[in-house]
Amino acid sequence: MPLNSIHTMKLYSTNNTNLSVSFKEAVFNSFPQDKGLYMPIEIPRLPQKFIDRLPDLSFQEIALEAAHALIGEDIPKEDLQKIINDAVNFTAPVVLLSEHLAVLELFHGPSLAFKDFGARFMSRVMAYLSGKNEKTLDILVATSGDTGGAVALGFLGVKATQVTILFPKGKVSKIQRQQLTTNGQNIRTIEVDGTFDDCQALVKQAFNDRELNQKFRLTSANSINISRLIPQTFYYFNAYAQAVRAGKKNVVFCVPSGNFGNIGAGLLAYKMGLPVKHFIAATNSNDTVPQYLKTGEYRPKPSVQTLSNAMDVGDPSNWVRILNLFGNDIEELRKIITPYSFTDEETLKGIEELYGKYGYIACPHTAVAYLAAKEYGRHAEDFTVFLSTAHACKFLDVYPQDLREKIVIPEQVKNLEGKESFAFSLKNDFEDFKEFLLKS
Ligand SMILES: *Cc1c(COP(=O)(O)O)cnc(C)c1O
Repeated sequence: MPLNSIHTMKLYSTNNTNLSVSFKEAVFNSFPQDKGLYMPIEIPRLPQKFIDRLPDLSFQEIALEAAHALIGEDIPKEDLQKIINDAVNFTAPVVLLSEHLAVLELFHGPSLAFKDFGARFMSRVMAYLSGKNEKTLDILVATSGDTGGAVALGFLGVKATQVTILFPKGKVSKIQRQQLTTNGQNIRTIEVDGTFDDCQALVKQAFNDRELNQKFRLTSANSINISRLIPQTFYYFNAYAQAVRAGKKNVVFCVPSGNFGNIGAGLLAYKMGLPVKHFIAATNSNDTVPQYLKTGEYRPKPSVQTLSNAMDVGDPSNWVRILNLFGNDIEELRKIITPYSFTDEETLKGIEELYGKYGYIACPHTAVAYLAAKEYGRHAEDFTVFLSTAHACKFLDVYPQDLREKIVIPEQVKNLEGKESFAFSLKNDFEDFKEFLLKS
């Protein structure tokens, strides 16, 4: 289909290829009833002219073309432009470490993690699509730390939305807690006397509760929402543009992976015509995907706790999307993705080495990607870009004293110190949670 003819986005379910739903439906449902994931029926191929012009375009211009190609007239281009300018209002620089190695910094947004791209775009798309006459959108989220901060800051001040975030008491880092509890406005936070799994169970139960669904327009800001995937393609195009500007060829992306949404977006960009030579998937000890690519058998397992805890996922929910992108053909996947996994001990060595060799302090997730990039980096003609998914200051406990002292704390974090912090407290009890929602 030519890109300049009017088109709208249609999505199928990975469990039912005959399904065809609109973009709006996919955004508000997050996932189809059959428990599959939504995927675009057509993956647009961007014109070569656009790819050739990438180095001349701004981040926002690139983002607009990529998003418009996917979403089409579901959001008219002028409106999409406004959404993008508002959502993507921070940079994603490619920082050169050596001639053949660079780091793509994705942590310059408000929550200091790459999830800001997804959360900020999703919040604005939801507000836009929900229209003027519909009820306030009630977004319920359970978080173990990073997602909640990005969602809270992503929705902060967005009209006609109210966000309720549940987090496990005593189980998030100091900075994460501050990001969750200092917002006010349309964001409220509940500290649950329980685990992350308990928080998730409470949210799930709320979505299944008839009374709550009658009274409220409930939506999840789930990480598998299609409107979180789309904006993650933007920085791959933009990083490629920066590489070309720096005179680099043979771009290889190395992505620290947990739920495989980030690398999934990279592979989507590749399918849209971005000339990436290869992808490297870096995991911690939660190595379900590396094992699958090695053995051909997909064996999900319970997650184990690591230093790079945002990647502690034993059954990555976005993996099925990647399988679908490559026709469920493992040989095709092996051609484009090389996986590696690393232990915590190796991760700590990676952090030290990055500092020793390049004077660069990376978060533990980023260090895992660095190790994988190094392992793969035997191809002298490649330019390998590993993705930095969070700022080191979010994980201060991980570093030895001498390195910790060198971490520069960004302004937005310092500002949190002075802000008033507030969270409601609830037991791990659904009736209490329901009453809280009904009374509010
Ligand atoms: C969420 C997260 C990841 C993992 O990204 P996926 O899209 O789930 O693979 C990696 N690093 C950080 C810091 C994260 O917050």
